[in-house]
Amino acid sequence: MTLGKVFIIGAGPGSPDLISLRGYRALVAADAVLADRLLPRDFLEQLGIPAGDKFVQWLGDEQPRWSQEAINEWLVLHAESGKTVARLKGGDPLVFGRGDDEIQCLADRGIPWEVIPGPSSCTAVPTAAGHPLTRHARDRSFAVATARVTGGAIQESFPRADSLVVMMGVGVLPLVVARLLDDGWAPDTPAAVVERGTLPWERRLAGPLSQIAALARRASVGSPALVILGGAAVASGAHGVRPRVLFTGLDPEGFRDLGELLHWPALETVPDEEGRRMLRSVFARLRRNGFDWMVIAGKLAATSLFAAMAERGVDARILAGAKIAAIGRATAIRLRERFVQPDAVADGVEDSAWLDQLAGQRVAAIHGTHASQELRNRLDEVAASVAHVTLHSVAPHPELGRPLPDHDAIYFVSPSGVHAFWDAYGPAAFREEVWCLGEATQAALAAHGVEARIVVPCLQARRLERPESAAVE
Ligand code: SAH
Repeated sequence: MTLGKVFIIGAGPGSPDLISLRGYRALVAADAVLADRLLPRDFLEQLGIPAGDKFVQWLGDEQPRWSQEAINEWLVLHAESGKTVARLKGGDPLVFGRGDDEIQCLADRGIPWEVIPGPSSCTAVPTAAGHPLTRHARDRSFAVATARVTGGAIQESFPRADSLVVMMGVGVLPLVVARLLDDGWAPDTPAAVVERGTLPWERRLAGPLSQIAALARRASVGSPALVILGGAAVASGAHGVRPRVLFTGLDPEGFRDLGELLHWPALETVPDEEGRRMLRSVFARLRRNGFDWMVIAGKLAATSLFAAMAERGVDARILAGAKIAAIGRATAIRLRERFVQPDAVADGVEDSAWLDQLAGQRVAAIHGTHASQELRNRLDEVAASVAHVTLHSVAPHPELGRPLPDHDAIYFVSPSGVHAFWDAYGPAAFREEVWCLGEATQAALAAHGVEARIVVPCLQARRLERPESAAVE
């Protein structure tokens, strides 16, 4: 049996799309994946990597936790059985991650290995949260340290720098603060805490060093979180003037220019079994050239379609007999990533040029979540026949109801998101500004007595006239 190989991969701070291209490719190649506890369980799915033929193990919350020895043994065992193994680690594998232990073990056992760097949370989280670690003409240095507690206190001084990032410190924040004050940091030094940076339910707190532990305790901040001190703790410059926007849609991609975005998903997707069964008959009909057009209504539809194709062991050639329309530019990008060039890219149903081409044609429409009624109706009117396939339904997110972080505006993309959010938080949560993508959502808010402003992010600006016609939630 030839030996396999282990890739030690830095996954980035949490959001799957922050992994490197090299890391992504190693994940695609892997037969077995062992992933860190803090990474989202749908990491592979979000990247559109089919996991069906991989052996995937997530380190869980169960007690006792896997020991480092058990992790090392797992890697060795799978590599020795000839597998390509991906060890997916949060942030950068060699920053406070025990990647060095794993590499040493593989080297000792003569197993080929390769390490792939990832964006460490110590820089990626502050940057994504609008806390520049250095600003031109202000800073010469920043330091990163971990809080090592011995005998009920932090014995060693923290490094001195213009700004300091403390990792693994939030559980012992009072001890961190005591040490910093002893080290001579002024009580009014700006401090900030970022919890779950780049992930859903991210929260950010800020206050002077002397009060940050109390603020974090009151907000019940938990792991993973970073503490930032000094100049970097102040969301300054261009970041300081942008509104903090709570984004309640499924996917914030394309909306990040609205402000300092916090992803607070009101809904989650649930696979639609009926839709998946229908997709199988669509594949069979595609093989017989039974469709003239495929309409891919949203980026989630595109990702799920390719995942379903991989599960069925078919590739893009199955689409060869049909023309393809992508609804929305983000959908078109997803298709192009898979080397499928759409024949039409539609901004919505009001954009009639592409719809005219569907007149009298046999159409399969793939919807990511429930179809926008308007799109459904227009397709039914125009085409000779339409097979509508819905790959997911949406349900209120089970974690909705977590305490809301400070924000300046809440953003809604769909009526179902509005209703889920209202049910979880009630009218008190609507005190700040409320923004939405289009008229149907605005009407849903109005039905609750909430006045909302339509605010369209840059990427979607071309949909401005009737922005919601192609909304995908
Ligand atoms: N190798 C990782 C660090 C592992 S130590 C890296 O390079 O990022 C784990 C600590 O990293 C956590 O206790 C927390 O302080 C920090 N951390 C990791 N992910 C984080 C996230 N998404 N948001 C905030 N802090 C995070």
